Amino acid sequence: MKKHALMIKSFIGFFWLTGTIFAQQPEPQPVEFRPISENLYEILGGRGAQGGAYIGDDGVLLVDAKMDKTSVDQTIEQLKEVTDKPVRYLVNTHSDGDHIWGNQFFPESVTFIAHENCRNDLFLPKNNNEPSDWYNSELAPYIPSVTFREKMDIFLGSKKVELWYFGVGHTTGDIVVYFPEEKAAFIGDQIFLTRPQLIHSYKGGNSFEHVKTLSNMLETLDAEIFCSGHSQAVGREEIIAQIDLMRKRQEKVKSLVGEGKSLDEIKAEFEENEERLVESIFNEIKNNNTGS
Ligand SMILES: [Zn+2]
Repeated sequence: MKKHALMIKSFIGFFWLTGTIFAQQPEPQPVEFRPISENLYEILGGRGAQGGAYIGDDGVLLVDAKMDKTSVDQTIEQLKEVTDKPVRYLVNTHSDGDHIWGNQFFPESVTFIAHENCRNDLFLPKNNNEPSDWYNSELAPYIPSVTFREKMDIFLGSKKVELWYFGVGHTTGDIVVYFPEEKAAFIGDQIFLTRPQLIHSYKGGNSFEHVKTLSNMLETLDAEIFCSGHSQAVGREEIIAQIDLMRKRQEKVKSLVGEGKSLDEIKAEFEENEERLVESIFNEIKNNNTGS
């Protein structure tokens, strides 16, 4: 298949899968760099998720790739406004298209890095059971070629960037990119503030593990700023609030299951936009997949 046709097909497929998030946003805002420090920026706008850019001594590390050529071109243009150093690394926080599909529009010289489960997830069949687009050989140079399991440090000269894996949650391959000097953590889709948390059960995601993973992150990192794919940057209190909210939903589903209610009856006890998450929680409880 020609790359162009592949792009269009996957693009449509992606919107079909995630239409609930993006359907109302046909024309994205232009890509914009929001400074967190002299060296660290949050990348807002464009089509796809928010990411980050870190200017090291000898090159740039990006967090996530957005999902179309226009957004990547705009990212590169904006980057030129703040540095003439080359992009050396691009870290994908997980395997969702809005964070990784844009990899293919960066130069092949960039080293793509992700968690090993993220790389594996790229080859899972799509929701409609068609084989993954990532089997296309033209995309091979853009598949993360460096993976890790628990922790990896990347040095850009004297500057250190820490990649952490805290466990299963939104998928099985979500990581945190931590910038210790700034005390800033880029956490991908591990929190959502404007809609209920996404848990991709079909990628092995699990809401009970998610709570443990976020708690583990807060215990391990002294981060004060948390940047994520689809919400504004927040502090520790907001992460704690998200953990509490998830626990409350889980308790409510558990008690309704205990009363013998069906999935449909349980969904009716929640807001409409919580139904997908409630279904995941319900299945986790039914399958005794609620963590240890
Ligand atoms: Zn996302």
